[in-house]
Amino acid sequence: MDKTKKHLPLATQIFIALVLGIITGLCMQGHVEIAEGYIKPWGTIFLNLLKFIVVPIVLFSIMSGIISMSDIKKVGSIGIKTVVYYLCTTAVAIVIGLVGGNLFKGFFPILETSDLSYEAAPSSPFMDTIVGIFPSNFIAPLSEATMLQVIVMAILIGFAIILVGDEAAPAVKGINSFNTIFMKCMELILKLSPIGVFCLICPVVAANGSAILGSLAMVLLTAYICYFTHMLVVYSLAVRTMGGMSPVDFLKGQLPAMIFAFSSSSSVGTLPINMKGCEKMGADKEVTSFVLPLGATINMDGTAIYQGVCAIFIAACYGIHLNLSQMITIVLTATLASIGTAGVPGAGMVMLAMVLASVGLPLDGIALVAGVDRIFDMGRTVVNITGDASCALIVSNLERKKAAKKDAS
Ligand code: ASP
Repeated sequence: MDKTKKHLPLATQIFIALVLGIITGLCMQGHVEIAEGYIKPWGTIFLNLLKFIVVPIVLFSIMSGIISMSDIKKVGSIGIKTVVYYLCTTAVAIVIGLVGGNLFKGFFPILETSDLSYEAAPSSPFMDTIVGIFPSNFIAPLSEATMLQVIVMAILIGFAIILVGDEAAPAVKGINSFNTIFMKCMELILKLSPIGVFCLICPVVAANGSAILGSLAMVLLTAYICYFTHMLVVYSLAVRTMGGMSPVDFLKGQLPAMIFAFSSSSSVGTLPINMKGCEKMGADKEVTSFVLPLGATINMDGTAIYQGVCAIFIAACYGIHLNLSQMITIVLTATLASIGTAGVPGAGMVMLAMVLASVGLPLDGIALVAGVDRIFDMGRTVVNITGDASCALIVSNLERKKAAKKDAS
């Protein structure tokens, strides 16, 4: 075999596919049905494969992550750091969204709002949401891909294995072996990502190209400015101060996952590529295998920004003024809403209903942004997965420092 033969790195291939997909999409603007009928299905096949692999990856990687720490205290220490980081950055993200929305409010168009209609799904009471996190059946969470329940299962079984000790040795071997097998499957699926990216982005551009130039350009621009601000300021600062890493290196290393998130609009689908990227940047495997699957499910800073910007936008369109206490309510509900948002395309828009309802804004307003939701979604997913990655690097660094300190004493 010719070992000197060079292949383009996957990240470069994905980037080329993205550019080609956008160009093809622009050329196909008058032929949306062709793009959606013949190109999109290939992208859907690719997304289906990712969805297929995500449940076993989350289940086995969290279990093997917990087992490899072999100490419940360590799991607790990583878990607390992760959850605190996720909650704080999400709250900051909504504040950025609200500030950005207010700064650019003057540029938002006052749209004709009389003929809008949007059927919001009935939102469930808060306690029902909490109860829903805990599985009542072993198979259903796996078959229905209810990710929060899958995470609870993985954590519970992982803890039990540590507590059982030697007797669980065969299970440990089995879980680690399955983890390796599913990771290999994922690697094979990821080889298809350039094709997947091309086929996913092309129909989006073909269908939305002209809408971007239309009246919604300003609110889209506002959301994207906030997305960039959050990544360049909050994550860069966090990675620099707590992660001991240069922000430039971080953003560079994160690029392949970002491109993938941008075209797939799915944090959960980007999980495998994000894990690989973080490990390449120096995050510990035991940390990434716990922090990233959790983040892909509960940490959605981009979604939070989007909800802040859209709430201001919708209020402006209806001529409603939001006061400070309503803004604080938005911060609280959007934090919860982003936790409950599934890492799949379009989920954030559904949760927007919860945020609007919390401050009495008309749910019909969602129809204003629904047409271009995919464009919001591409950017917010990039922020979502970048937040997860920054957390993995920071927690790895903090844990390493802690271990070094312990060794020295
Ligand atoms: N698509 C986003 C994600 O997967 C969720 C959302 O719709 O906000 O991260």
